[in-house]
Amino acid sequence: MDYLAPQDYHLEVGMRVLVPMGASQRVGILWSHHAASVAPQRLKAIIAVLDSAPVLSADLLHLLAWSSAHYHTPPGQALAAALPTAIRRIASTKPQEDPISPAPAVMTSPACAWPLTADQRQALSAITSAMGHRAVLLLHGVTGSGKTEVFLHAIAHAASLGLQTLLMTPEIGLIPQLWSSCSARLPGLAVATMHSGMTERERLAAREAAARGAAWVVVGTRSAVFLPFARLGLIICDEEHDPSYKQSEGWRYNGRDLAIVRSRLLHIPVVLASATPSLESMRWALGGHYHHLVMQQRPVSRQGASIQCIDCRHQKLQAGMSPALLEAIAQQLQQGGQVLLFQNRRGYAPMVRCTSCGFVLGCQRCDARLILHTEPGQPFLLCHHCGMQRLLPALCPSCNAPALQPMGIGTQRLEAALQERFAGVRIARIDRDSMRRKGQLERTLQAVRSGEVRIVVGTQMIAKGHDFPGITLAAVMDADEGLLSPDFRAADRMAQLITQVAGRPGRGEHPGLVIIQTHQPRHVVLRTLLDQGYDGYVRMTLLQRRATHWPPYWRLALLRAEARHEDAPLQTLQQLAEQGRNLLAEESAVQVLGPMPASMAKRRGLYRAQLLVRASNARMLHAFLNRFLPQKMTHKGVRLTLDVDPMDLL
Ligand code: ADP
Ligand code: ZN
Repeated sequence: MDYLAPQDYHLEVGMRVLVPMGASQRVGILWSHHAASVAPQRLKAIIAVLDSAPVLSADLLHLLAWSSAHYHTPPGQALAAALPTAIRRIASTKPQEDPISPAPAVMTSPACAWPLTADQRQALSAITSAMGHRAVLLLHGVTGSGKTEVFLHAIAHAASLGLQTLLMTPEIGLIPQLWSSCSARLPGLAVATMHSGMTERERLAAREAAARGAAWVVVGTRSAVFLPFARLGLIICDEEHDPSYKQSEGWRYNGRDLAIVRSRLLHIPVVLASATPSLESMRWALGGHYHHLVMQQRPVSRQGASIQCIDCRHQKLQAGMSPALLEAIAQQLQQGGQVLLFQNRRGYAPMVRCTSCGFVLGCQRCDARLILHTEPGQPFLLCHHCGMQRLLPALCPSCNAPALQPMGIGTQRLEAALQERFAGVRIARIDRDSMRRKGQLERTLQAVRSGEVRIVVGTQMIAKGHDFPGITLAAVMDADEGLLSPDFRAADRMAQLITQVAGRPGRGEHPGLVIIQTHQPRHVVLRTLLDQGYDGYVRMTLLQRRATHWPPYWRLALLRAEARHEDAPLQTLQQLAEQGRNLLAEESAVQVLGPMPASMAKRRGLYRAQLLVRASNARMLHAFLNRFLPQKMTHKGVRLTLDVDPMDLL
């Protein structure tokens, strides 16, 4: 919206202003100003200027403008994500008088017990020589190669130049570990955190500390990419491949991608780190656009693990565990080892079926099965999509037979079976249900590290960067899950998870064992992964994706439609698809695929359909979307949302 500026006021882009909107008044951000207007007499005047200095720096305004164009969202939506609620209220902010704290008298290398490995030294020197320039560095280091150590040295180096570091992580759960590493190893450097679990006040304080330069390091999740910094010199994105960097509701931005954009705007380096980099990053690294820093050695005192694939066909499984796995667990426990079991389904059983009539209990509001949970209290059924909850009925709702049976394995069932089999052994379950209470995850991780806990059962929460030095056996309970999905990214995710889980054991002094259970031992993804490692999987997959026009070569945008009326989403998208195809030439580098019903055709009582736009590059994609997207994203009860660079195609 345009407004008339006050006459005698020094206005700067990024300041907050109070403006009339309809009958009310709103706080807005000055986005740009112009000396002339087509119809100045029709403009309403700005009521008040709320700040004496911008609340958003130039690079942040640029980042928001870039985001708004890239994700095809109004600037207001990006602004709302970037600014804490308190700043969007009326009270004016203090001008920032506090001087930037001086560079601490830090050492150029942190307190450190070990000499760096040759790989670590090389990676570090590449990062330090990139300081002050635009550069994307992919730190591709096998699990246990000591990437965190490299971060700490790089942060210390940045601080010695008087520069702050933003250290991003995909999960709140990983923040405490990174925070304590930084605090313990970089004494004298104040470390702040930023994540959604903090109160509004805590977040304002962290923001303030970053903006004044009092915080030398901010460890945060994706929204930290919008923090103001006095002198940001380095961004590190840990576990850069993790899909949690992408916001999955509302404004669907990718924190990793925005970190790259912000580093470009500031002319500073960004380090993307992972043991299993995304195919996007691998494409650019292999093509020479990113510096590819490979760390293959583990520090000398660390041992690797051997991998064993167990063919589960014709085997009698106990709560999903093959006899060979059970034996391996028993053996490890006897030898004083620690065991980690990766089971990517929470709850007790992913399905409840009537063995008399075959009826499967489903959610009324979603096109999904109800999941049986046994904790806490009475067994209950839960929809993982809408949160609908009810007690497990005694009789089948369809045929009234007392024949309802849980089918399949979730973490709770696995935990119960292990508890029965290995009585007296302390078992911990790490999933979203068991880790709801604040501090619970930290306490459990501590009990795992101290060795009190002997068996850990968990979902993908345990496959993410946690350092468990005592684990001697890690098992992937069911590798098949990702292999059969129609979403092409599911196989990537499974390959990453298997590699990450396989990297857990053997980090301490003992060599480790990795067991992978599957019903498809010949599956090409699994074979490639086991024979040639993650790099082999990436090379094979990149060739395929290029030949079949999928990311990371072609770019995608997914247009989703939702409505209460069953046919409306598909009809609306059908019309749009026709209009879209009319805009395209025959052999176009842009394609409109679909529409089709979403794989979960109903969710939270709304029917869903989707349309996929695919283009040979980003420029083509955006040029097409600019012409194609309707002005109004809600029309006749159908709500449209656009997901650019979607991580989830179902
Ligand atoms: P990554 O993040 O690459 O999986 P970490 O940074 O967690 O690996 O390091 C794995 C383990 O190796 C940690 O316990 C860490 O303290 C240790 N470590 C890191 N660098 C060295 C080194 N140069 N010498 C000995 N041990 C090291
Ligand atoms: Zn539901």
